[in-house]
Amino acid sequence: MIQKTFHAAVFVSLTILTQVGGVIYLCSILLISKWKRKYRWKRIVLFLSLYLLATLFLIPRVALIFGRQKIEQLSHIQYHNVLTALCNRNYVSKELHRVLIDISLQLQEHSPNIQLVYLDANFPFIDGFPLLPHLSHNDGKKIDLSFVYQDLDGNVTNDKPSNSGYGVFEYPQLREKNQTEQCKSQGNWQYDFTKYLTFGSADQLELNPETTKRLIKLLCKHPKTQKVFIEPHLKERWGLQSDKIRFQGCSAVRHDDHIHLQIN
Ligand SMILES: [Zn+2]
Repeated sequence: MIQKTFHAAVFVSLTILTQVGGVIYLCSILLISKWKRKYRWKRIVLFLSLYLLATLFLIPRVALIFGRQKIEQLSHIQYHNVLTALCNRNYVSKELHRVLIDISLQLQEHSPNIQLVYLDANFPFIDGFPLLPHLSHNDGKKIDLSFVYQDLDGNVTNDKPSNSGYGVFEYPQLREKNQTEQCKSQGNWQYDFTKYLTFGSADQLELNPETTKRLIKLLCKHPKTQKVFIEPHLKERWGLQSDKIRFQGCSAVRHDDHIHLQIN
């Protein structure tokens, strides 16, 4: 009974984190089913080997058949944290992949060393399967992108202040709209929950508003873009006019630490 509960808990956790990890774990149990200490280690090694082989070689090919593409690592487009790729959280539709390539090349026309840095995207398979905690990242058409930062000497960099890419906020100033206060006062306790999910942060970086604004304008200008989420105070502070920039609602989390892009 304890065994079964343990296996079920591992299966669910791996499925939530990586989508395919749970199924690969089941395969390892079927291949090595004995519950003795020495077999347990063998099973862990087998699982890790199968998982890595699948993640690196098999899933990218199979996902293509189902219309999802692993985001290529290019000089102009990169993940922020390697766990995004290791957990298979870097898949998008073919259309969104083309949009990301377009935007990253346009960004480099003005800022040659600046990469389009992405955070959580989607899993490789099944429309409707959410990439938690982002409920809407479930069809290959959504992705989170990082703001652009500079070091304390004002040099624009591809580094980010948060290890996860989330949770280091650009707070509203005194006279700006404080959406977080408003949402939390309505009982939406989760609205700034990402502050607990930085996994470590660096304070030698500050936002570079010019390049971040340019990136958001490029996103809004792209004909395939349907919605861009950032917090209302940043839209106002940066004088952004596009009606594609929306407020995501209080039931989501705050968007003054990253940009959410959604295409048609
Ligand atoms: Zn998002």
